[in-house]
Amino acid sequence: MTARVLVVDDVPANVRLLEARLSADYFDVVTASNGFQALEICERGQCDIVLLDLMMPIMDGFEVARRLKENPATYHIPIIMLTALDQPSDRVRGIEAGADDFVTKPFDDVALLTRVRSLVRLKMVTDELRTRATATREFGLPDPLMDVLAETGAGGRILLLEDRPAALARMADMLLSEHEVETQQDPQEALFRLAEGDHDLAIISLDLDNFDALRLCSQIRSLERSRYLPILLLAELEDRDRLLRGLDLGVNDYLIRPVDRNELLARARTQVRRRRYTDRLRDTVQQSLEMAITDGLTGLHNRRYLENHLAVMLDQAAVRGRPVSLMLIDVDFFKAVNDSFGHTAGDDVLREFALRLRSNVRGIDLTCRYGGEEFVVAMPDTDLKIAQMVAERLRQRIESEPFAILGGTRSIDVTISVGIATREGVVDNVPTLLRRADQAVYRAKREGRNRVVYVAA
Ligand code: GH3
Ligand code: MG
Ligand code: MG
Repeated sequence: MTARVLVVDDVPANVRLLEARLSADYFDVVTASNGFQALEICERGQCDIVLLDLMMPIMDGFEVARRLKENPATYHIPIIMLTALDQPSDRVRGIEAGADDFVTKPFDDVALLTRVRSLVRLKMVTDELRTRATATREFGLPDPLMDVLAETGAGGRILLLEDRPAALARMADMLLSEHEVETQQDPQEALFRLAEGDHDLAIISLDLDNFDALRLCSQIRSLERSRYLPILLLAELEDRDRLLRGLDLGVNDYLIRPVDRNELLARARTQVRRRRYTDRLRDTVQQSLEMAITDGLTGLHNRRYLENHLAVMLDQAAVRGRPVSLMLIDVDFFKAVNDSFGHTAGDDVLREFALRLRSNVRGIDLTCRYGGEEFVVAMPDTDLKIAQMVAERLRQRIESEPFAILGGTRSIDVTISVGIATREGVVDNVPTLLRRADQAVYRAKREGRNRVVYVAA
């Protein structure tokens, strides 16, 4: 992992100092001496994290952070603010402007480098999702990066784990003004609840009696449902070393006690906001995966999916010596439906047909819309006799029940022609099977439609 760090500071000596420390730790370093340069470098996607000096002429660090967070192209880049200011109110301002952390000069080298590494690692997960989600634009899905900019981060579902009742109550009270809070004193129980996977953030006390909070953090990271759950640790200043280990384990953020209410709220909002952002990216990716293999009108699989999957099905059948059969179904005189009742009515028929088709075959059968009004069902473990039985049953079911169209205002009779092909020996492959099924449909049409025809190899 060679991450690229952007160091922004108007004092050249500060830049050189940081550059030397980061380079020694094998980071690539880019530098900027003012906010405008920094924004440009970020916009071009040339850095993974920004170390941002707060006090700069013309555009200060707060303003740079705000602008980075207003731009979908730079929203996800983590920011660490470097400053001599050390009051909680300064930190709150920084975090509210969009900083992930606030490091006070003079720096603790190890702490700074650990923080940089941890934020870069977290960003890499987001980067991967962003790349895949961006590819979904071709499917015409809404851009997940746009509406997230308005996200406030309030109203999160937070689990708070602290074994000292007074501290637990105090902290819960602070959080309740903006979030839903579930309090826990028992680490095992907390893990159990988090594994159910419904939270936006876990806030965990690092100094639990009789339990290693870091072990809990790594358990949270290893469970499927809580793998990406943001974790915020509450720590004493003396616990620095364990805190840094926590960051290496994938903890997202921390707060030093005594906890400042506003800082707690600001950090919680940042984590909840980020959580929602990555959740949305993940949803978009999932949706696009489904769209890539699904037909939009009927919800059946599409042709591309069929052709790939059928190849796998045939290989498995060959290995196990089992039969595979295929039905190619073409709606009879479908063009006439469109011509008489309009395209919408035609779509109604296709949707209803898909429903009937699906309910007439087994779950393991692969149903797909092959094109316009043509459908294919690939049936593993199915010989010719069974395939003919299934096809005939479907044909009757279509013929015997008229199709409702145009919102149920009319109904029309529909029939189908079905071609059957069945895998006959190792020479058969996807194209040969489909070709025979297609020949069979052609014959069914010629022989008068509304029938099932089989063509042998
Ligand atoms: P045959 O009995 O010989 O199969 O006649 P047909 O009219 O069903 O066949 P043809 O191939 O001539 O026409 C198919 C029609 O299906 C033409 C096309 O406009 C229509 N079609 C294709 N896709 C869709 C769709 O998604 N929605 C609607 N409404 N019509 C479609
Ligand atoms: Mg056709
Ligand atoms: Mg047709």
